[in-house]
Amino acid sequence: MRGFRLSSILTTVAVGASAALTNGRSFSYDGYKVFRVKTHAQPSVVQEKLSNITFEQWNHDVHSHIDIVLAPDQLPGFAELDLEYDIMHDDLGGSIAAESVHSSLWKRQAGGLSWFDSYHDYQDHIQYLQSLHDLFPDNSEIISSGSSYENRSLNGIHLWGAGGPGKPAVLYHGTVHAREWISAATTEYLTYKLVTEYKAGDRATRAALDKYDFYIIPIVNPDGFVYTQTTQRLWRKNRQPGPNGSTCYGRDINRNWEFAWDANPLGASTNPCSQTYKGERPSDTPENQGLDRLVRRLRDGAGIKLYIDWHSYGQYILSPFGYKETLYAPELGKWTKAAQYVSDAIRDSSAALTTFTFGPSGATLYTTTGAAPDHVYSIGRADFSYTIELRDIGKHGFVLPPELIRPTVEEQWPGQKVLWTLLDEEFFDGVGLLRRLDGRQSTP
Ligand SMILES: [Zn+2]
Repeated sequence: MRGFRLSSILTTVAVGASAALTNGRSFSYDGYKVFRVKTHAQPSVVQEKLSNITFEQWNHDVHSHIDIVLAPDQLPGFAELDLEYDIMHDDLGGSIAAESVHSSLWKRQAGGLSWFDSYHDYQDHIQYLQSLHDLFPDNSEIISSGSSYENRSLNGIHLWGAGGPGKPAVLYHGTVHAREWISAATTEYLTYKLVTEYKAGDRATRAALDKYDFYIIPIVNPDGFVYTQTTQRLWRKNRQPGPNGSTCYGRDINRNWEFAWDANPLGASTNPCSQTYKGERPSDTPENQGLDRLVRRLRDGAGIKLYIDWHSYGQYILSPFGYKETLYAPELGKWTKAAQYVSDAIRDSSAALTTFTFGPSGATLYTTTGAAPDHVYSIGRADFSYTIELRDIGKHGFVLPPELIRPTVEEQWPGQKVLWTLLDEEFFDGVGLLRRLDGRQSTP
């Protein structure tokens, strides 16, 4: 999820003041509850009632519901508001404890899938990436797009197929928002499948990897990610100190991209305490500087064919533009059609019939400035540029139980396989589109 409402900014800070040590983290969510409050298309009525209590808000599009986190001392006041709601987490501290099991089984099963049965700490992620490289030593290399504020390397992997590196790039990022752990697992799973299916001779995988170089960076905000594991599970930003006079930490790396950074006051926050604080200047986070260098390097090389920034939650496939909801790029039809095919493939492959909503970011979800897809399209000249918000649509939100890692990551593979076949297709010349439609109709 890419944002918070401004009204929740200060409450987030207030909630933090009552922290106690638990689960190895210095901030405890024991006794906290998460509710999905129904707004019945009249969010202002519900927001007016909620203004009487202190809470943290998880979602931004509040047309049908508002997902809120409540500290124990706010529960009686909330009950008095007499709102209609579903319970997302009856004991958020318990849900966080349940996801914090770090199995090491994967280390004894090299090349197996047990990695995707639990969440892992940062060092294990680095080691896992190395193990993927070891599975595919002649067709991959470990890369770094730079360093974080706390000087962790932004490690990723570069994969290529026949004919060696140097083809147009497919670029995937995960975990720009620290608490969105499922995005690391997803980019790692796609890497795992690329490697193992290529080696097994899968035709579609071979076609993709022989045509494109893949650059995959599962954790582009390592400082924030480590902080979610040591200190506060629901941290979002990086860990850069605030500007002069502010005691608040962190900038939102995904509001910090140069393109249209300052284009719309609704798209990000200028308050250093906000979850969507955009920074003092465009690209004034070391993490963004490193990523942008990589984007420009790939642009000036063989070019960027596809870019995806992986997030959670809400199940969306979003293309530019985010910064202006009435601005439609000439490629919007192509992007929307491709997103529809991805969405169809995900739904048809998943036992849960998972559905993804798709469209231009600003109009479909909400306004964002300095966000990655706008920049990588406009400055990086990517042919296709998306944000994908993974599961779920509000049962668990950011704290997705470990047993849902596998189905969540697995359903993305058929979606990406379809997307790769579309990247060079002229499916808006009429003929290509008709051929594709015919193919769909003849498939039972
Ligand atoms: Zn996010």
